Amino acid sequence: MLQQTQVQTVIPFYERFLRVFPTCDRLADAPFGKVAEMWSGLGYYRRARLLHLGAKKIVKDFEGRFPSTYHEARQIPGVGDYTARAVLSIAYGGAFAAVDGNGARIIARLDRSSGSVNQPAFRRAANLRLSELISARNPGDFNQSLMELGQTLCLPRAPQCSKCPLKKWCCAYRFGDPQDYPARRPARAAEPRNLAAAIIRKGDRVALVRGLEEGLLGDMWNFPAAFGQTRQEALERLGAKLEGITGSQLEFKPLEGTVRHRITFRSITVALYTATPGRMMPGSFRWVPITRVDHEAISQLARKIAAAACASKSCRQAPAMPR
Ligand code: SF4
Repeated sequence: MLQQTQVQTVIPFYERFLRVFPTCDRLADAPFGKVAEMWSGLGYYRRARLLHLGAKKIVKDFEGRFPSTYHEARQIPGVGDYTARAVLSIAYGGAFAAVDGNGARIIARLDRSSGSVNQPAFRRAANLRLSELISARNPGDFNQSLMELGQTLCLPRAPQCSKCPLKKWCCAYRFGDPQDYPARRPARAAEPRNLAAAIIRKGDRVALVRGLEEGLLGDMWNFPAAFGQTRQEALERLGAKLEGITGSQLEFKPLEGTVRHRITFRSITVALYTATPGRMMPGSFRWVPITRVDHEAISQLARKIAAAACASKSCRQAPAMPR
């Protein structure tokens, strides 16, 4: 949960998640829909999928306990080099240096080393350097101290060097240029994208589909939608997509207002439409009361669209689909 997400944000999700899935077995036995529902609001749902697959693997092959060797730990879905090292050092006292972004930043400043923390070669070098430094007696505490130092003092923009216990060994501090390390990776420019999204109603319920497009939000429920170079192209692609799903042509009516959302480098402008197909293929969609969409495992984007649709006068007045 902490990957890409801050501790304060994670805490309530973590506590709620553990109440529902207090053991690895309970998590492994649950249907993924339930796992995604409990993850809803945290984003990056691939993590939830991998956590679920990881729990299944641990129950099936390791008798419900996280394995204690690096080789076995890496067989678990979602457990990469960093996670394996962090868990093995903290849970089992293994002498593995675990270098996350914070650790890499600290090493870059201690040694004034060149390179960006996102470069694999830089990470490998940082791992090697920390392997020389790691405490053989308390490797878990060593790794956690480094993580903590990176979160509290050795901050990316304003390092608090005067309070830092490492300052007498830190080259960047000595040279007075810690902000210059590590080198920054140029950010990918935001790409503007148009998305057309359909609010298809059946009484007070709306239609949801799995995933969005371009492999995005694959585990989440979303309003049917399509990308396009222009607003018109997005609408045409949405019409074709829904015709493929329902077997009938749809009539779209635009809703006032637009929704803006960002997914990685995509800066998305969403145009909303109500759609009333003549007939429906059974099972084409998942039907959910629009006022309860929030209770489903939906994406943040779908959450924004639902809020905009609920606020839209023309959507509230639109004739409901026959049940
Ligand atoms: S002295 Fe400053 S730059 Fe060096 S490790 Fe400490 S906080 Fe980071």
